[in-house]
Amino acid sequence: MDDPNTSGLPFSGSPVLPQTFDDSKLIQFQCRKGIACWNACCSNIDISLTPYDILRLKRRFETSSGEFLQRYTVPYEMEQNSIAGVKLRPVENGTACQFMTPEGCSVYEDRPTACRYYPVALLSLRRQDETTDRASYALVEEPHCLGHREPRRIIVSDYRKEQVLEEYDELARGWRQLILKKKSSGPSIGKPTKRSLELFFMACYDLDRFSQFVASEGFSNIYDLPPESLRNILCDDVELLQFAFRLLRQVLFGEETIPLRREAADERRLRLQDRKLRLEAEAAARRAAEQDGMYEDPDSGV
Ligand code: SF4
Ligand code: SF4
Repeated sequence: MDDPNTSGLPFSGSPVLPQTFDDSKLIQFQCRKGIACWNACCSNIDISLTPYDILRLKRRFETSSGEFLQRYTVPYEMEQNSIAGVKLRPVENGTACQFMTPEGCSVYEDRPTACRYYPVALLSLRRQDETTDRASYALVEEPHCLGHREPRRIIVSDYRKEQVLEEYDELARGWRQLILKKKSSGPSIGKPTKRSLELFFMACYDLDRFSQFVASEGFSNIYDLPPESLRNILCDDVELLQFAFRLLRQVLFGEETIPLRREAADERRLRLQDRKLRLEAEAAARRAAEQDGMYEDPDSGV
């Protein structure tokens, strides 16, 4: 099953049909137990997980996010040297999903967004001149999937309701917006530091470690959150996740989403000034060295 939960347009050769549509589109599809292709889609997986998918699954297994990530996922880079995503790890030496059983999906109530959408693909798009993303959809038609031949017709908005996708999309919206913003901002935002990329991974996917970070004294020394808000965030994983997206907008894009303590704000200002001066000095030194090289070179015969 290719991941139909994608944030870009389909590439040529992809099973995603090039026509995109809105959620009023009528499609013909049904997946049901007993169909001849039962489990074919789960036998060859390529499924990206949203932060909310991970939250649901780690809750189901009553495990920590760190253990879940280690056992059931593999990280990947969405773009070179940029933010990371997480995919479901197939069975050892195979391509099937670890959650597949002869009866079907063993985590059905908490199955990931991509599995819920299939065979519809969500295409979250954002133009450089737009501030909000737009959802459109496409249909994935893979030859092994016989669900397209079933007689049921359904409009995409009803299919999304049936698959509980409104909740899943709503709670992962902040994450999608971060990805779209990162992709559409290009060099104007600059290269994220290694630390901010690590924070992105922890805050989006390793929620238990992020919770410890938010509860730490170091965090409270920097961010000025009312004690009650902090308590609410730390008591509720879904709140914590939404807070993670807010914090990342501040760290990655400089949006002022969470107030800083005055001393921390002053320190940050000084640090940024220092960094700016250092970069300017380094650039000036480089220019001077290049000029020296140019004046020395004529006799060098090079
Ligand atoms: S999580 Fe469930 S539906 Fe998704 S690929 Fe695995 S077995 Fe299939
Ligand atoms: S109908 Fe499609 S989605 Fe359902 S089991 Fe078959 S291949 Fe998978």
